[in-house]
Amino acid sequence: MRFSNLFAPTTKDAPKDAVLPSHIYLVRGGFVSQIGSGIYNFLPLGKIVLDKIRQVVKEEMDAVGGQETQLGFITPAALWKESKRFDKFGKELLRFKDRKNNEFVLGPTHEEAMVDLVRSRVKSYKQLPLHLYQINTKFRDEARPRYGLLRGREFLMKDGYSFHEDMEDVKREFDVMEKTYSRILKRLGLEFRVVDADSGAIGGSGSKELMVLADSGEDDIVVCSGCEYAANIEAAVCVEKEVSEYQSIYKKAIFEDKEEFIEFQISTEDTLQEVKALNACGALELVDIEETPVRVNQVIKDVDLVAVKEGDTCVKCGEKLTITKGIEVGHIFQLGDTYSKALNATFLDRNGKAQPYQMGTYGMGVSRLVAAVIEQHHDEKGCLWTKETTPFELFILVSNIKDENQKAFAEELYEKLKDAGVNVLLDDRPERFGFKMKDFELLGFPKAVIVGKGLVDGEVQIVDRKTSEKTIVSKDEIFSRLIG
Ligand code: ATP
Ligand code: MG
Repeated sequence: MRFSNLFAPTTKDAPKDAVLPSHIYLVRGGFVSQIGSGIYNFLPLGKIVLDKIRQVVKEEMDAVGGQETQLGFITPAALWKESKRFDKFGKELLRFKDRKNNEFVLGPTHEEAMVDLVRSRVKSYKQLPLHLYQINTKFRDEARPRYGLLRGREFLMKDGYSFHEDMEDVKREFDVMEKTYSRILKRLGLEFRVVDADSGAIGGSGSKELMVLADSGEDDIVVCSGCEYAANIEAAVCVEKEVSEYQSIYKKAIFEDKEEFIEFQISTEDTLQEVKALNACGALELVDIEETPVRVNQVIKDVDLVAVKEGDTCVKCGEKLTITKGIEVGHIFQLGDTYSKALNATFLDRNGKAQPYQMGTYGMGVSRLVAAVIEQHHDEKGCLWTKETTPFELFILVSNIKDENQKAFAEELYEKLKDAGVNVLLDDRPERFGFKMKDFELLGFPKAVIVGKGLVDGEVQIVDRKTSEKTIVSKDEIFSRLIG
């Protein structure tokens, strides 16, 4: 590809509301552009990265027997009413009607649609297990879309659904998915942890999240210094401490059909963990209140409500726990029969008896991963794409495009490298050297060859983007050097 033909409108200006490196660099580098709140266009460079990640996900999913499908992005509301999620899901679910007054939702997740696809077609245990997935657009009307691709309203997710005879087989597949997701993240060049997660209101026991480690992560993760224990703070446990004094924290709890005032009692030395508090009372939402309510409907104590702190003791090994930040890029879930039961989706088991399928669900944020790579790999100049995610392996920069020798040499090298299968971008724009160098740094491809003044002495330069190291190489050796 020649830069003169590439639509990559780089700019010096960061979006006004951008605070995170991935948001700033992806927009400044012309990878993406915002078209509406939480809605992004992918420009050519962004689309290349997105497709590369999608490809890695697909390869690893197919390798363990996943089958790719593509479900309608729009789901009939009737299915969401069958599962009773139409009302429960809250404002994140965008509901609308067509010209005939039929109700629909913009799919935020596809349990209902996938169960519906399978229910009339998989009728016997002989057809199980089955694992279907898709890599498709999702829409969630997030209350606070922010941080660019990290929390969009429209985003790309890989969502998989597996169907089994029993929970034992769900657990087997769950372990396969933990390994598969780990392999995907390793290939993408990401440092990550698999952590125990809160299973929330959907119920079910086993749920794990895959967290990309980054200071900017929205999630707090608790990691043990002595063993493998790692958990989202929402689910993390520690050895219980003696409580000398209690404090009361009051919240207004919103239920489907009522509102109540709840008192949570914890040690004065602890802080209340909101998700644990929510799970303890089964509310849809907890709202902070300024004053102590006159009447309390429920008092909650003697259950684990506290947020684990740095230095608390690990229940598994007794060592100290530490807290670090992560970006949730994947969530795998032993779901059970919640949706198959609700949608009356059954198969005939080995005894000829109708049973609801036992299910697992597995989500991975494909567009969020584009940003997560940059959150973990950037510097003060711009992006530092990893080997599997970089749009181009190599950048050839012609220092002075009016210099016929420089131009001719760069063109020849470009053609030879392309023929040899190297994914290379030739910066042939009639711009100043400094301008083009800044773009190279912002765009973050791993290496550049600079064809400049040294060419008259038979020399060109290789620049390593990450280390800034410059190596002078003879023009006759540059090709073999880059290929080797
Ligand atoms: P979060 O806690 O970040 O809101 P979630 O737990 O609601 O995410 P899941 O329902 O588990 O998300 O969805 C599976 C994956 O989809 C997540 O692990 C995440 O990588 C991705 N994802 C979820 N919401 C968004 C979003 N608003 N923008 C981009 N990616 C998202
Ligand atoms: Mg999740």
